[in-house]
Amino acid sequence: MACSVEIVCVGNELLIGKTLNTNAQWLAEQITRIGGKVTRVTEVGDDVQEIASAVIEALKRKADFVITSGGLGPTFDDKTLQGISRATGRKLKLNQEALRLVRDRYKEMSVPKRLRLTKPRVKMAILPEGSSPIRNPVGTAPGVLVEFGNAKLISLPGVPKELKAIFEKSVAEKIREKSGNLAFYESSMIVRGIVESALAPLIDRVMLGNPRVYVKSHPKGGEGRTGALIELHFSSTEKNRGKAREQVIKAIIDMVRMLGKRR
Ligand code: ATP
Repeated sequence: MACSVEIVCVGNELLIGKTLNTNAQWLAEQITRIGGKVTRVTEVGDDVQEIASAVIEALKRKADFVITSGGLGPTFDDKTLQGISRATGRKLKLNQEALRLVRDRYKEMSVPKRLRLTKPRVKMAILPEGSSPIRNPVGTAPGVLVEFGNAKLISLPGVPKELKAIFEKSVAEKIREKSGNLAFYESSMIVRGIVESALAPLIDRVMLGNPRVYVKSHPKGGEGRTGALIELHFSSTEKNRGKAREQVIKAIIDMVRMLGKRR
């Protein structure tokens, strides 16, 4: 069963090139490994309408999961949940379970002796109605799950360490389950001394003979330069890892044979 996932990364810092979007890359890699299919990655600024329209579009495309990163914190520019609220029509409301999680985190961090739940701290517990907060084991802002029709909207904090911890502990399993526990296998070979345009028909033939394997060339040097390196990446998603591996190895052998015939 295919499980489609869209990633929406929120933050002006991404759009001005200040922060490299490593969250999208990391999430895409993890999701692929556990059998999910990332179908789109979108970056938007800290703007409620931009966030809402990115989420609405993902829902229109019938994504099974929409995962947002960033914008969950206590400051005025953390607007992701306002965007989700606008996209889903669910009003923002203080969520007691989220408030407990926020309070517990500050206690664990033992900041002050008498914890004051200030307005910015309470803000992290104001969620769209019907949300389930997800414990953040390394930071203060909880993740948020909103079930909307058949889709799951999951909001994760922007700080990479926090995003990774919540994903691994509480999100990966949901994707694994939805994908029917599919397994991904990948392998690469490096080809030298053949330009990409000459490789193209060989890739076509290998893919035709191995329809469950995706082959992609990644040139590491300019076309036409002698000695240019090309990475050929082979990947397959199957019911089990052994089957995916078998298919990838067969495709690599086919490619090696075809390359041999050219010499
Ligand atoms: P927190 O409440 O923990 O601050 P947050 O959800 O409010 O989390 P942001 O304020 O959006 O997170 O981002 C916090 C920091 O995380 C940013 O300053 C940036 O360094 C980093 N960050 C945000 N988005 C990304 C991203 N897509 N890839 C890598 N780093 C990111």
